[in-house]
Amino acid sequence: MSEVRIIFQGDRLWLPSGSALPEVEAEFSLRLPEGHLALKVAGEQAVPEGVEALSLREAFPRMDLEAWVRAGRAYQWLEWAAGHRFCGRCATALEPGEGHGRRCPACGLAVFPSNATAIIVLISRGEGRNRELALARSPHFKPGVYSAIAGFTEPGESLEQAVHREVAEELGIRVQGLKYFGSQPWPFPNGLMVAFLAEHLAGELRPDPTELEDARWFRLDALPPLPGPLSIARWMLDAAVAEAGLETGA
Ligand SMILES: [Zn+2]
Repeated sequence: MSEVRIIFQGDRLWLPSGSALPEVEAEFSLRLPEGHLALKVAGEQAVPEGVEALSLREAFPRMDLEAWVRAGRAYQWLEWAAGHRFCGRCATALEPGEGHGRRCPACGLAVFPSNATAIIVLISRGEGRNRELALARSPHFKPGVYSAIAGFTEPGESLEQAVHREVAEELGIRVQGLKYFGSQPWPFPNGLMVAFLAEHLAGELRPDPTELEDARWFRLDALPPLPGPLSIARWMLDAAVAEAGLETGA
């Protein structure tokens, strides 16, 4: 496999308009587990001619999926490495440790790359064409867009407990019959999104006003604008709609 260089400047990926990226002076570089080289260039460095500096979201429609996923991985590794240069216990500079980890030469603390794990859950009720989905709107979404409920797991909590807690906190309802759907690395900046399907058990929707603008039940044949194809939220929604023999819009 030939080496790929992946260059980030802050959270911006350098995407060449031609085939090759220029040689750069990197502030920080990291050999990724699969052998590619991730480079971080200084924020004040001018973006060279023939290169565009794009956020991962902006880059998504411009790249093939494999290259985009690889760039997201590179970003997560760079962010972890750049944010773990010193010991969190005694502030000594860390040294390379076991595997991909780092170790403090003074106090022995070992640190390893980690994800912030989040759950996302698509809740439904009813059968066939009368099936409805509980979708919510965060003020951060694009106008009109509704999606499934998501939230970070807390230390000491299982994924299932996180689902039940988030659903209760954000929507005021209870669910049952959790089914694992899939997972997705979410490089904004270091997430792992774990997706579940669930059935409504009890309660009326009472969206938490500190997190959500609105939440409602939508019939599968009358869904609102949905998130883009980048996210596992959309993959779950597409699967639910396809299962009912319908199609989602753009
Ligand atoms: Zn230490």
